[in-house]
Amino acid sequence: RFAYVNGAYVPHEHASVHIEDRGFQFADSVYEVIYLYKGKLIDAEAHLKRLEHSLNELDMDMPKSRAAFMVTIKELVRRNRVKTALIYVQVTRGSAVRDFSYPENTMPSVVMTARRVAPFDANVPLKGIKVMSLPDIRWARCDIKTTSLLAASMSKQKAQDNGFDDAWLVTDDQFVTEGTSNNAWILREDGRLQTRKPSHEILNGITRQAIIKLAGQKGIEILEDAFSLDEAKKAKEAFVTSSSACVKPVIQIDDTTIADGKPGLFTQQIAKIYADFLEE
Ligand code: PMP
Repeated sequence: RFAYVNGAYVPHEHASVHIEDRGFQFADSVYEVIYLYKGKLIDAEAHLKRLEHSLNELDMDMPKSRAAFMVTIKELVRRNRVKTALIYVQVTRGSAVRDFSYPENTMPSVVMTARRVAPFDANVPLKGIKVMSLPDIRWARCDIKTTSLLAASMSKQKAQDNGFDDAWLVTDDQFVTEGTSNNAWILREDGRLQTRKPSHEILNGITRQAIIKLAGQKGIEILEDAFSLDEAKKAKEAFVTSSSACVKPVIQIDDTTIADGKPGLFTQQIAKIYADFLEE
């Protein structure tokens, strides 16, 4: 296995950055996870655009062009001989003497890894997950995909310690923002598909955007608006989306089973639509 670190492809076990890297000390760093499906990079352009958005919000520029990123990603894929994998891309502000304010003229660190995963398959019944609602204790700029992931990590751990698979994060007024590493969706009683609209409170998922477009093309009506935890518990179906999980049914929220507690047919249909898009 090879990782990419600042211009070099190095054995994964030896891949490292300096201890004064600001990614390490301040989580002064952003990332992307891009799905490689059967040799095809899914929505890579959109991921790299979002990487640029994240960097710009932190007053950083892209360390190299999107085209140059693509060349590196493809070379990493080639060297790792992977066909279906998660491509992790991280850019930090670089290393500097520890100080809260941004240093000047540091060289950003760019690291990438490729991890083989099983290809998403919507032709088999999807396994549902149970989610626990927890207060969203993350910061106020969740639209920036930073590596400051401790609040999400704590939440997922707490959910798992309580016998759940993941957490759904809720605001003080009891509205669902998103999962710890995915966007949250419900199928409403009126047949509309609902997911929170993009804001500083969520990461605008690339998978989320793809599904809005694909479902729209199939004539499925979509409501981009916040739903409450209570509405979620009363929903006909629920699911999450992300580049790594694609589409995953939610069958239980806290003590409430969603519908009959089995992955819903509609969710399976959305998964199929997304799988067809992956195969295109
Ligand atoms: N929200 C959060 C908090 C995430 O970490 C992720 C996954 N990176 C997502 C949503 C889903 O985004 P995407 O579909 O772009 O993977």
